[in-house]
Amino acid sequence: MKKITVFCGSSYGADAIYTNQAALLGKTLAQRNIELIYGGAKIGLMGTVADAVLQYGGKVTGVLPYFLSGKEVAHDGLTDLILVDTMHERKAIMHERSDGIIALPGGFGTMEELFEMLTWAQLNLHNKPIGILNCNGYYRGLLELIQHMADQGFLKPEHQKMLLSSDNIDKLLTLMNAYISPPGKSWITEDDM
Ligand code: AMP
Repeated sequence: MKKITVFCGSSYGADAIYTNQAALLGKTLAQRNIELIYGGAKIGLMGTVADAVLQYGGKVTGVLPYFLSGKEVAHDGLTDLILVDTMHERKAIMHERSDGIIALPGGFGTMEELFEMLTWAQLNLHNKPIGILNCNGYYRGLLELIQHMADQGFLKPEHQKMLLSSDNIDKLLTLMNAYISPPGKSWITEDDM
């Protein structure tokens, strides 16, 4: 992986562990020569991860819609800042430019971005690894819900396995590097009809 898209909160969260982990992820990406692609803001964990990559000499591309450039406060020190018209364009560019996706803790925006990447993978529109950093057990409830979806027959086991998870950044990157996407089967099979 040469470029990774990171989705994360535009807030800092209630515990310092979230900023610490965002900064550690940024440092790790820079040290491994992996470019960061992210939402372009300087607020919340988004700003923290970008600042850390830059501090350790890495490259950062931000993608921000014009209408958010005031609200989310565009980061003015990035290697490259791409301003776009819509949220859809933002996500499409972030997706196109990356070799993998990581979600740190975040709110609705982060969840929406994460699930869009998962649903695109489920539809075989891409085969990039998708990982969540389950620091401080932040994603425990979501992982339980996903298990429940599978148990109740709303999520195929091979699609459940697409979501990689670890509470440790190095381990998460190892899982992502080793990821093999499920065979190119259609999302709806004859068994479903
Ligand atoms: P949040 O996790 O809610 O703090 O938001 C993190 C990022 O997701 C921010 O850059 C938001 O602009 C972005 N975001 C919020 N809502 C959406 C959405 N519907 N689609 C795509 N991105 C979003």
